[in-house]
Amino acid sequence: MAEQAINFEAFKLNKQLLNAIAEAGYSTPTAIQEKAIPLGLAGHDVLGIAQTGTGKTAAYVLPILMKIKYAQGMHPRAMVLAPTRELVMQIEAVCKDLGKYTDLRVVCLYGGLGPKTQIEQIEAGVDLIIATPGRFMDLYKKGVILTRELKTMVLDEADKMLDMGFLPQIRAILEIIPVKRQNLLFSATFSDKVERLSAEFLEFPERVEITPSATTAETIAQVKYFVPNMRTKINLLEHLLENEEINRAIIFTRSRKNAEEVSSFLLRKKVGEVRVIHANKGQNTRINSMEDFKAGDVRLLVATDVASRGLDVTMVSHVINFDVPLIYEDYVHRIGRTGRAENEGKAITFINPAEVWHFEKIEELIRMDVPEVTIPKSVKITETPFAEQQIYARELDKLKQRENPDYKGAFHEKKAKPKRNIGKGEKVKAKKSGKKKNRNQLKTKNRKN
Ligand code: AMP
Repeated sequence: MAEQAINFEAFKLNKQLLNAIAEAGYSTPTAIQEKAIPLGLAGHDVLGIAQTGTGKTAAYVLPILMKIKYAQGMHPRAMVLAPTRELVMQIEAVCKDLGKYTDLRVVCLYGGLGPKTQIEQIEAGVDLIIATPGRFMDLYKKGVILTRELKTMVLDEADKMLDMGFLPQIRAILEIIPVKRQNLLFSATFSDKVERLSAEFLEFPERVEITPSATTAETIAQVKYFVPNMRTKINLLEHLLENEEINRAIIFTRSRKNAEEVSSFLLRKKVGEVRVIHANKGQNTRINSMEDFKAGDVRLLVATDVASRGLDVTMVSHVINFDVPLIYEDYVHRIGRTGRAENEGKAITFINPAEVWHFEKIEELIRMDVPEVTIPKSVKITETPFAEQQIYARELDKLKQRENPDYKGAFHEKKAKPKRNIGKGEKVKAKKSGKKKNRNQLKTKNRKN
């Protein structure tokens, strides 16, 4: 039987952080978090080799928040350096999310706008600074920042910082901060340059590495469908279960709520025996469901990633990604459950308008364009309910802001006007080279609507 995945309680984080983690929807630590959080908490220097999409940000943010705990004094006690303004803002978002029950003061420093507000924020007192190296040095030279209290220092996306020519600034910063401190360095790759920097920056580091298992087994046939909404996803699922030769399938959802919704639908439809596993199900229930499924008595297993991690289920004919995973590595894990040991397998992914962006990232990770299949005519494509349209619009705004921090967001301005659906005639088609266009088409549609 699979080992039980560890949960965040095992790290002995404080209540404020555990509550925020639960509210952020993280139920189980990702691989990099499982390895790096205990090391960070124990005060070690850490060398983390991990890409975006692995949960690396929370892997260093949580130990920092735990260490600096609450607002104290006027000067920064921890600092994260990152190559770009976009990344600085993403890290800030994670700090704000996970630190929401603390009174910690987080200040972001980056170029592209005047320093006045940033200076005022620092002067009002700060606990954690997230900065690009250039802007940090500018303000330091102006005498705005006192570094004497800095005890923890993170270099995030170190490889990118070096590629962008930040080494002189990084070296200058290391000169002006206290020698006695904890250092963490994260990088997607471990090039010679990164190795040299880590030798300068880290002392007896513990190395943790998450190598993306980016190659997907060749025996797995992958396809994707662009589906406008939840209801249509359900209709399509029903169609596939009735018309494709699906012996045993795992259906992955992103949340417990969706797992419950999908499984109760399948139970009503009587498309075969169904079990559901997610983090809210007791351990025994989960084990029994797994055993029934493995024994072949059950045709369909609906699961969240959390519940299925580490479970050894093989010989599945189909993996259906009802939702696109936000931890992109999970895509590889999910579809790895089919096509094992020379068995032909099929992986089918349903992608709603807000998931297009994430799936493109997955395609980059696995280095392939997954072929699109058009929704069959017999599947009813329903109108997207207003509330659901709003959720997508909000998610798309968030993603656009991630790419361009100046983007103000269309959501609030257009709140009053219901958006039109992406219906059958408007379905987005993925052409072989049309990935970018694809996303833009969706953006344009949302703007027009
Ligand atoms: P990162 O690699 O830090 O950019 O994180 C990628 C995404 O994973 C972000 O959207 C995070 O909110 C999300 N995430 C991070 N840790 C977890 C977790 N333990 N469970 C679920 N989602 C997570």
